[in-house]
Amino acid sequence: MAARDESARMHESSEETEGIVDLVLDHARGRILAKDIPLNKPLTAQELARSASGTITEDGIGAREALSVFERALAPACISVDHPQYLSFIPGAPTKAATAFDLAVSAANIYGGSWLEASGAAFAENEVLAFLAHEFGLPAEAGGAFVQGGTLGNLSALVAARDAAKRKSTTPERRRWRVVCSAEAHSSLLTAAKVMDVEITLAPTGADGKLTGQAVEQVLDQYGDEVFAVVTTAGSTNFGIVDDVASIARLRPAHDFWLHVDGAYGLSAMLVAERRELFRGVEQADSLTVDPHKWLFAPFDACALLYRDPRSARSAHAQDAEYLDTLDDTPGWNPADYAIHLTRRARGLPMWFSLASHGATAYRDAIARCLGLAREIAAEITARPHLSLVRDPELSVVVFRREGWTAADYAVWSDRLLADQIALVVPSSHQGAPVTRFAIVNPTTTREQLVAILDTMN
Ligand SMILES: *Cc1c(COP(=O)(O)O)cnc(C)c1O
Repeated sequence: MAARDESARMHESSEETEGIVDLVLDHARGRILAKDIPLNKPLTAQELARSASGTITEDGIGAREALSVFERALAPACISVDHPQYLSFIPGAPTKAATAFDLAVSAANIYGGSWLEASGAAFAENEVLAFLAHEFGLPAEAGGAFVQGGTLGNLSALVAARDAAKRKSTTPERRRWRVVCSAEAHSSLLTAAKVMDVEITLAPTGADGKLTGQAVEQVLDQYGDEVFAVVTTAGSTNFGIVDDVASIARLRPAHDFWLHVDGAYGLSAMLVAERRELFRGVEQADSLTVDPHKWLFAPFDACALLYRDPRSARSAHAQDAEYLDTLDDTPGWNPADYAIHLTRRARGLPMWFSLASHGATAYRDAIARCLGLAREIAAEITARPHLSLVRDPELSVVVFRREGWTAADYAVWSDRLLADQIALVVPSSHQGAPVTRFAIVNPTTTREQLVAILDTMN
């Protein structure tokens, strides 16, 4: 009896576990509500070994000590992606409501794969997916699932696309399948092609960086029905460029292909009425992806993957196993059936809670604010004699150069900004020339903060 009690010690509610839970929740509360979060910076493995090794022992070091190691040594070596001056790659900027609710999702330990186990969670996730589908102009039958990120979303969509093409093909055993996208498309598409063992053709973009129907048509004429999918990018990661989706969609039905829209970063801008025009054609997509962990204010990790016809995706993705049969017999929506996953976190719920709490208008306003700030800082860059825009920002990524600077100059400057804990703005390059960029998805980022960064480039 005593032995049994001892072995369940970690799992039972007691004075001890209550103390642990309080410690952790207090810590989390402090981080979520902190007014000035530190930017932080990477440390070397040697530095971390000095300050944080030896935590895994036979008898445990105790929750207080473990949390102290995290607060003292580990957390400072994790960059705050939600810091207003984190402006590199694509940042994240979760709302307080979304982050807090992520804790509630963890507390309930929801198995988000099936309707049998999580009908309530799947229902709420589907409410968010239906909202997004409507915003993007997809039909009411559209549906899908939240997956871990745009990479897995793109891969899952392309697997569904190839499966649909195989079902239609008279020679499905044919060896070569081909995806078309532009050279500006995200690296995850090259990864997807590699994983799927399919060819990928990078169609040329115009001087404006956009993929057009004309360029895609040339590839289609060359490769014919080898091409099973065309991927358009709705907001390229480097520049925020939105492909001319409508002109590509118009190539159908003369050419038969699955149209996927990779909107991991940029599709969020469709929530802003004045910018919808830029996205014409998205409503004709067979599948699309948008990452709430980028510009829809959810914590990591969440990509909304939507299919125009979810039944077709289901037949590509539903896993078949005797132990799962009972799930298929339960009527309802199994999120696991729509992507390459089975066990999954109900990762759409933080966005559901925040969107339900604050309403869509708050989201539209927050996205519009980022778009407005990008235009303002672009004008400021243009007005400065030593700085110039590489191109006018289409969304909220601003790419610019400092005249006379070499790649080494950018590197020194960028390292300094991070060392001084002012900002994370990393060097980038465009057509072989060094540049830098601001990616603005955080509504708390201010013009003054960005101007202060520009001032360090004099
Ligand atoms: C970020 C991004 C991806 C990859 O998304 P992850 O969530 O990082 O996997 C794919 N496509 C585009 C356009 C992106 O910006």
